[in-house]
Order: sequence, then structure tokens, then C-alpha cells
Amino acid sequence: MNLDKFMYQLQLNNPNEPEFIQGVRLFFSSVKDRMQDDFRLSNAAVLERLTEPDRVLIFKVPWLNDEGKVIINRGYRVQYNNALGPYKGGVRFHPALTLGTVKMLAFEQVFKNSLTAIPLGGAMGGANFDPKGKSDAEIMRFCQSYILQLWDVLGPDIDILGGDIGVGSREIGYLFGMYRKLSHQHSGTFTGKSPEWGGTRLKAESNGFGVVYFLKAMLAHYNDSLADKTIAVSGFGNMAHGVIKKAIALGAKVVTISGPDGYVYDPNGIDEHKLEYLIELRATSQDLVRPYSIEYPGTRYFEGRKPWEVDCDIAIPCAIQNEIGEEEAAMLISKKCQYLIEGSDQSCTEEAVQLFSNTSLRYVPSKAANVGGVAISALELAQNNMKMTWSDAEIEQRLQDMVKRTHDLCRSYGEEGNVINYLKGSNVAAFQRVAEAVIDQGAV
Ligand code: GLU
Repeated sequence: MNLDKFMYQLQLNNPNEPEFIQGVRLFFSSVKDRMQDDFRLSNAAVLERLTEPDRVLIFKVPWLNDEGKVIINRGYRVQYNNALGPYKGGVRFHPALTLGTVKMLAFEQVFKNSLTAIPLGGAMGGANFDPKGKSDAEIMRFCQSYILQLWDVLGPDIDILGGDIGVGSREIGYLFGMYRKLSHQHSGTFTGKSPEWGGTRLKAESNGFGVVYFLKAMLAHYNDSLADKTIAVSGFGNMAHGVIKKAIALGAKVVTISGPDGYVYDPNGIDEHKLEYLIELRATSQDLVRPYSIEYPGTRYFEGRKPWEVDCDIAIPCAIQNEIGEEEAAMLISKKCQYLIEGSDQSCTEEAVQLFSNTSLRYVPSKAANVGGVAISALELAQNNMKMTWSDAEIEQRLQDMVKRTHDLCRSYGEEGNVINYLKGSNVAAFQRVAEAVIDQGAV
């Protein structure tokens, strides 16, 4: 199999989808050795089947703003692959969302879900809608219109929606409400619901907690720990919040947060009290971190810059895809950063990942590092199915076990002497399970 030729053709078939092509190329370059000369894979056209989503939905989302004007957005749902279980994946509301990004995220979700060993397939959706500055009523009308276009292709055994950037428990509430009305069902078709009506406890923290549990497992492998480590974090949403909370609880110092406006450097480290302030800052829906530096003297704000220029032992990007390019990667390497663990999906460009592979910096791709998000979704669905709820302690233990198992699986496929190649380990382990399921279930 000639991978270059395959990728060339894929690019021709999917023009203007660079994020998707990037995700596929990175994935297949680490599993190509596994595929070499495997007659079963080529005969079943596994590669071709895994690079074509089962179904792509693109639809109009009309809604009324508070001035009474009709606004049109574009909605998406990519039901990528359901060989392992019902389609499952988040919904992202972001003004720059494109089909290429949604397809990349759906592709990633298939393998992320495979890694966690939960019986779920992969999907992703969203819209090029900007929640920033919108009123509560506008958000509700938008969510209702979005789900009106999609509700009849969803279901607890068909396709299950969850949160992502721009979609938290408020949005899930509005999406779910309209779905419940249309389908006459109060079912587990959504995750990220409020714990008061079917959601799980610890949802908001779990994605970030999961990243730190993964980090903890990796550090333990290298006889290292989080104690006294300096960490640079980007973003200041749910993911960053959970990461910071757990990292400081385990003795690390987190010195940065960032927003679209720039980043803040806090040499004393973010503490529990400042974390509370971060929640207030988010609630303003302004997407700015500058006020943090005004609130806390002794911190510094760097307009229009990213936090990867500070001295740190560990970097945890928690903002958005491709936030670390070649330049940022080179900066982290020159600052002797030892570990980079992706909180946001596909945080690093291909060039950045390539740079890391020639250094001693340990890199963990998001599909392994941020399994906490979908792991908590699986725990939410389990509670829905059993019609019961677990305590914080029970949930945290299960979450931790799932992340640890994921880490160990990546290790078993990625061990190269004393070092773990997490890129290869996660991709090969994830591919293995999906490929076998696709082959077992025949040409459908
Ligand atoms: N978007 C989240 C993730 O990274 C959550 C997906 C879900 O729970 O459906 O996996």
C-alpha cells in the first residue's frame, strides 16, 4: 500500500478540508507499519472505509435574534463510524467551524472512543455560530432550530450528542428540551445534561481531570511526579479549569491561562481562589483573560501572544486545534519543556509533532490524553440506563480507572525501550479495535 498515493487521492476527494487531511495523515503514518502486507486489511478496504464517514449532514439553521431579524447559520453532524457502538460525539458552536474541522474531530472521536474500550462509535457536529455576546434567549432559539433539523436521526442507540467548545450544560439543556418535545422521549440521547435531570456529577471537571490523570500515569512511568512542576496552560474554559484544579491539587504550579486576546502569566501560580474568579470571568461571555491581570497585581498580560514562550516543565494546550505550530513547538523545546499533553483536540500541527519526535520532549496526542470527556459521557449513559446516580467519589474512581487503562493500553502498543511513543501507541491500539470490528461485520 502506497500511503503517499492514498493521501494524494484523499486530498483530491476532499478539497478544502486541511484539518481532516492532517488528522488522517498523522494517524496513518503511525499505523502504516501495522498495515504493511496485511491482506485482511487491504481486502476489506479498511483504509478506504475509515476515511469515508458513514454520513455527513449539512443543514441550514435559521433563528431569530433579539431584534427580530432572521439569522442563518450552517449546521453539521458527521456520523463517522458506528462499528463499535452508537455514534457518539460532541457538538461545537464556534464561528470558524468548517466541514474539515468537524470531519477531523469525528474521525478522531472514532479512535478516541475505541481507546477507552467503551462500546461507542464516533461522530461530531456543530455550527458556525458564535455564542459570544448572545443573549440567553438567542442561544435557546439557536439550539432549538439546530435540533429541529437533526432530531430524527438521533437516539440512544443511534447517535448520542455531547458538549464541546461553546456547548455546555445550558446549551445541552436547550437542545435536549426540544429533542424531548419532538421525540416524546426522555432518553440518553444527550450527555452533559444537568445532574438535576439525568446528567452526571463531575461532568464539567472530568475532561480536565482526565488529562491530569493521564499525565500522572505517564509521569509515574518515568519515575516522576507532578509535585513542584511548572505548567503552562492555554485557554480558560472547562477543560483548562479542570486541568488547573487537579494539577494544583497534586502539587503542581500552573502559571498561565489564555484567551483569544492574549495570555496572562501568574508567577505565583493559580490557586483555588483564583480558579473561582476564572469561573466568573467565563460567565461574562467576553472571552477575555486581560481582566485577570487587573484583578491580581503581580501577574502580567501579553496581548495577542500565546503562553508557550514561558519557562515550564509541562505544556497543556486546552484551547483549540492547531494552537501549537512549528514556531511554538521550537520555543517549547528551546525552553526545555519536558512533556506536552494535548487537552484540546489536535492541539499541534503536523510540523510541531514532527519536531517533537526528534527531541526528548514527551508528546501525548489528544485522542489519548483527553479521553476523560467521553469517559464521563459513558458513565453518564451507564447511570441513565441503570436509572441511578453515583457519588462524586464513585465517579472519580471510575474515571481514573478508565484513563489509567487507556494509558496502559497506549503504553503496551507504544513502548520503545524505556520510552513510550504515545502517538504510535494510541493510534495503533485504537486502530486495531476499529479495524477488527469493521472486518468482522462485513462489507456494509
Ligand atoms: N467533545 C468531547 C470529547 O472530546 C466530548 C464528547 C462526548 O462526550 O460526546 O470527547
